[in-house]
Amino acid sequence: MKNLKYCCFPKTVEEAVKLLNDKKHKSIAVAGGTLIAKSIGDLIEQYVDIRYLPLKDIKVSGGDLIIGALCAFDEIDDNPLAKKWASGVLSKAASKCSSQLVRNMATIGGNIAKPHSFNIFPALLCALNAKVKVAFLKGTEIYPMEDIYNTDFPHKLGSNSIITEIIIPAYIKKCAANYEKFAKTQACWESYASCAFSLSLIKGKVEKPRVFVGSLSPKPIRLEAAEGIVSNQKLSSEIIEEAMEAFIGNLDILKLSTVNIGFKKEVASIMFKRFLLSVLEGKI
Ligand SMILES: Cc1cc2nc3c(=O)[nH]c(=O)nc-3n(C[C@H](O)[C@H](O)[C@H](O)COP(=O)(O)OP(=O)(O)OC[C@H]3O[C@@H](n4cnc5c(N)ncnc54)[C@H](O)[C@@H]3O)c2cc1C
Repeated sequence: MKNLKYCCFPKTVEEAVKLLNDKKHKSIAVAGGTLIAKSIGDLIEQYVDIRYLPLKDIKVSGGDLIIGALCAFDEIDDNPLAKKWASGVLSKAASKCSSQLVRNMATIGGNIAKPHSFNIFPALLCALNAKVKVAFLKGTEIYPMEDIYNTDFPHKLGSNSIITEIIIPAYIKKCAANYEKFAKTQACWESYASCAFSLSLIKGKVEKPRVFVGSLSPKPIRLEAAEGIVSNQKLSSEIIEEAMEAFIGNLDILKLSTVNIGFKKEVASIMFKRFLLSVLEGKI
């Protein structure tokens, strides 16, 4: 924080993006401030505090669910639309954030802009096939959620551009979905494993399954082999066992080297099995 000289409070997205791109001062966007307050670099001269931008709505538009980037975890937890969509998984996941203080301040935009292994929304929003609207100097563009973590993503989120909305496609509303986190206590940010899943059941068959693991790397890991086993299938005990094997095989190929990886993989695969069993038993 040594060089911090200016703090701005833009009222519009355009103004905020202009300030971030101001060549005179190295700037950074601040939303809830829960993460940046601990990690601001010494080169930053200007805080662009985006909390007054009109990005706090949660609404349905054209059938899609739109979540403003400045919605705090607590607002998502309490929101009636978030409780209705995809088995209420957005509210459930938001409620798993470590403490009420953090849930009051931390925003969904900040949570996904700088992915951390233990952040809740990167894996969940990937599993919900979300898209992200990004505002930059030349306008706005909508990207698939997974693209924002690619090395060739064209914007530096928070430095020259801001996420304005998260868009969850209409078909997800009726999907079966779940987010699970296994940690020492409910109040831990760190977890051994976290997983997010979604699928549609059409005439008893699984369609569009999406299987993501968080906590093992900052970028959520998609397990396409496991998705392939259940896709277009009627769930049965045999298919579920096969999908679990594919899930573990998928993780084995990645040769992840975090501590206790064997245990973490086992926990994650059990979460996957439980999700599929809940769908089979009609509990989700
Ligand atoms: C004690 C503690 C406990 C925590 N527990 C959890 C937990 O259990 N689960 C969890 O998921 N996270 C947890 N976090 C992490 C953190 O709170 C989240 O990542 C939070 O969502 C960040 O949001 P923010 O609004 O506070 O971001 P800020 O701190 O304001 O910003 C973080 C970064 O994101 C950028 N940014 C913010 N908003 C945008 C935007 N709209 N567009 C582009 N860039 C943006 C900023 O420039 C900055 O680089 C915890 C943090 C702390 C300090």
